[in-house]
Amino acid sequence: MTDYDVAIAGAGIVGMSTALWAQRRGHKTLLVDPNPPGSGASFGNAGTLATYACLPVNDPSVLTSLPALLFGKNSPLAISYRHALKNPRWMLSFLANCSAKRSHEISGELARLLSHADAGINPLIDEAGAEDLVVSAGQLSIWSSKSGADSAARGLALRRSHGVLFEELTTEEARTMEPHLALPVARAVFYPTARHITDPQELVRRMHERFEELGGQTLAQQVQRATPEADRVMIETGAETIQAGKLVVASGAFSGRIPGVGTDRLPLGTERGYHLMFASEAHRISRPVGWAEGGFYAVPMDQGLRIAGTVEIDAVHKPANPKRIAYLKRRAEDMFGNLPQPDSHWLGRRPTMPDSLPVIGTSPESMNVIHAFGHQHLGLTLGGITGRIAVDLVEGRQPNLDISGFRSDRRFLRL
Ligand SMILES: Cc1cc2nc3c(=O)[nH]c(=O)nc-3n(C[C@H](O)[C@H](O)[C@H](O)COP(=O)(O)OP(=O)(O)OC[C@H]3O[C@@H](n4cnc5c(N)ncnc54)[C@H](O)[C@@H]3O)c2cc1C
Repeated sequence: MTDYDVAIAGAGIVGMSTALWAQRRGHKTLLVDPNPPGSGASFGNAGTLATYACLPVNDPSVLTSLPALLFGKNSPLAISYRHALKNPRWMLSFLANCSAKRSHEISGELARLLSHADAGINPLIDEAGAEDLVVSAGQLSIWSSKSGADSAARGLALRRSHGVLFEELTTEEARTMEPHLALPVARAVFYPTARHITDPQELVRRMHERFEELGGQTLAQQVQRATPEADRVMIETGAETIQAGKLVVASGAFSGRIPGVGTDRLPLGTERGYHLMFASEAHRISRPVGWAEGGFYAVPMDQGLRIAGTVEIDAVHKPANPKRIAYLKRRAEDMFGNLPQPDSHWLGRRPTMPDSLPVIGTSPESMNVIHAFGHQHLGLTLGGITGRIAVDLVEGRQPNLDISGFRSDRRFLRL
């Protein structure tokens, strides 16, 4: 006998989705996290259910524009060289996965998973009574420079080839849609079926509330070690040892730090991203608008205007970098004109594998451990479907989609 059918390490959107799917299906479920549900990367993201976003950051243009990305004053990408030198495996693998061939393959894998995203998250939104947090107003993407607009063609063609629905807009149409944009508009694309969540942390909080109403239990402790056995997993938190039939590792950017679960050998990295909140400025926009050259989204949220995005490659534990916060403020003003001082700022740690694909599958070391992490820029969008797949694996069932591309023993360095 075990204490629980399944335990989940991590109460971000991925772990919380797994827990709610598991409890709905009648499993005795324990959610373990030392921090409140939805307080990690799932707290402050841009809130987009970005089912159109099948293009990985691994893109051939990264190789050609690397000097500008690394040294440009207005670059949305920042890299700590010290960190890069200490982690050559992640960096080299990331660059190797930027070839046109790999980028094409990765986008295909992401598109297939994204096509199931709504089927994963919608039942959980209903279950949590969170329909009021979902807005169906589409998503607008803007390129402000001629070179940016031209370089978008390849990615848009790739999206179209994967069946992503979008409309090319004229400059006037884009300005009519979002009249407060101060940017030049060289190209504009509208994704009419895109939705966004007006408070991502509130979504996780309500999912957690419903999980507990259904009988799920929560333990505010950290999983420090796990030992898989033939018919169960022994889970040590420092304060106690719990026995569960299965353990799902959904600890986001920290998933590689739990000894015994077969994740420490994986090249899991972190793409750090930031947000700024302007409480009184939500009226500037009516839907999420992504500015390609700026590397961020502007989104109307319940708490105000959120400017969220950019990528900083640095150690997971480092504090927020004031230069990246200043970058976002400066570029937000390029987008909208003068803005007041932000009311708050936030650093989030996206869990990212160097091929931009998540890890979803049974651990090669034990059938009783399931991996569910590495969702990079798409965790909010893909959390629901990942949770459903993870529970299929808990039950020893074959998911209704091919997940072989997400297995943790795949080859990461493809030269
Ligand atoms: C600026 C920014 C904008 C973004 N915008 C979007 C967007 O618009 N759309 C989208 O789909 N995605 C977006 N993302 C990505 C998305 O936020 C992440 O992919 C997602 O939140 C990852 O969820 P997670 O559950 O894997 O990790 P997290 O939310 O980080 O949760 C992991 C949890 O694990 C816990 N934990 C860690 N170690 C242990 C342990 N040993 N034991 C127990 N618990 C542990 C942590 O306390 C944490 O609560 C964005 C990210 C950023 C940073």
